Formats: sequence, C-alpha cells, structure tokens
Amino acid sequence: MKILIYPHEILAAKAEPVKKIDGMLQDFIDRMIKKMYEAEGVGLAANQVGSPIQVVVMDVTPSEEGPHPVVLLNPVITETEGSATHEEGCLSVPNYSAKVTRPARVEVKAYDRHGKEIRLEGEGLLSRCLQHEIDHLNGICFVDRLSPLKKSFFRKKWAKIRPAEQEAPGQ
Ligand code: ZN
Repeated sequence: MKILIYPHEILAAKAEPVKKIDGMLQDFIDRMIKKMYEAEGVGLAANQVGSPIQVVVMDVTPSEEGPHPVVLLNPVITETEGSATHEEGCLSVPNYSAKVTRPARVEVKAYDRHGKEIRLEGEGLLSRCLQHEIDHLNGICFVDRLSPLKKSFFRKKWAKIRPAEQEAPGQ
C-alpha cells in the first residue's frame, strides 16, 4: 500500500460509496490504519492509497492516550457552524503546510466498519480532520482550497520539493 502524491488522478476522483462490508474490506481497513500510523498521520482517506471508495481512518487522540483509530464508511457532513483558520498538512503533500479556513464545528453521519450508523460532532482538530478527509473522498486536496495567490505560491514551491516517487518519503 502506497500513499499517492499530489497531484494524482485518483486523488482528484470522487470516491464511490461502500456497498458491501466483507473480509476484503476489513483487511483493507486494517492496512489503511497501519499505514496511517506508519506515516504518522492523523487521518487517511482511501483515495490516498489508490482506492476511490468512501473509507476514512482517523486518530486524533493524543499519542500518550494510545491508539484509538476511528473508521468511517460513507461519511457525510450534516451540519456546519462558524469559521476557523488553521495550519494543515497532508500525507499526499509531504513537507508542505498552509493555513486553511473551514467551518469551526461539524456534524458528520457515517457508518462504522461493521455497518452501524454513527454520528460524530466536534470542533478543533477533530472537526478539521473530518473535513479534510471527507474533502479527499470528494476529490479535493487541502491545497485546492488555497486562495488563487497562495495556490500559485504553492505550485512554484511544490515543483521544487515534490518527491520524485509516487510515494511519501519513508514509505
Ligand atoms: Zn490529506
């Protein structure tokens, strides 16, 4: 399993909803979780590892509290509130971060890995991570949300620092 580097056609594709929960999906989810921890990310969307299906894994708990992975299938934002600007990075855009403005609080409806409906709501890192990962499922990377001026700066910088391989460093 490799993490795709921006830009990539699968990163820009809209992911298909998960329709069937089977052993293959469970295995895929376990490998995504492993990859997320190896890459030291707080979230990973299935597009980022080359599968355009609506699967997100996240863990925004502080590392001293131990791993607490959350799996979201077919997540949808059902409500947003306020606005917040914060630095963001992405495993598909290594060694780059930028400030992104997003709603401060979100509510999300999704299914867990066993198909049970779950609702999440939060602010801060949880809210930001949910929005960032759900963006991935819609083919949007955080750099796509930069203003035209910031995006042109990003493009120039990225041309110089972009990893040569279609893989994040250390993967
Ligand atoms: Zn990302």
